[in-house]
Amino acid sequence: MVRARLARHDSRYTPGRRRLVEALMGAGRPVTLTEIASSAPDLPVSSTYRNLSVLERSGVVNRILIRGDRAYFELAEPLMSHHHHLVCISCGAITDIHLDDELEEMIDLRLAEAARRAAFTPLRHMLDLHGHCSRCLHLVEDLTTEDGATNILRINPPAHHAG
Ligand SMILES: [Zn+2]
Ligand SMILES: [Zn+2]
Repeated sequence: MVRARLARHDSRYTPGRRRLVEALMGAGRPVTLTEIASSAPDLPVSSTYRNLSVLERSGVVNRILIRGDRAYFELAEPLMSHHHHLVCISCGAITDIHLDDELEEMIDLRLAEAARRAAFTPLRHMLDLHGHCSRCLHLVEDLTTEDGATNILRINPPAHHAG
């Protein structure tokens, strides 16, 4: 499947790309370029980065962006089962979550309706929930306005990231 997707984009399934797909498969969760580099130290980082871009363009790898500078990589479907992510905006931790089939069907249906109205042809949906993980929750102060209508979240400096 990987070979076929790459071929469609005039790219070959080189040994380096195979190692990369194996590393992502072995990780079993979204990983950063740094994590890939430490799990596969024989792969040169520069070519790993290039290969990730090729694999992403070919639909073999998905890139998950946290904030502008931070990216995680994981295998695309059907190499990975369909799932979504909980993304901590404080520390960048990503957790995979699976929704039940009924909800997935409802999401697809509603998105397809919205897409049709916009004359847009849907391929797949990706849905990440941003918030705070249990480790970072204490960094967030809940400041409720006087009418109680709006919650403003203030992020304190992350103490556990000092140094
Ligand atoms: Zn966190
Ligand atoms: Zn879904």
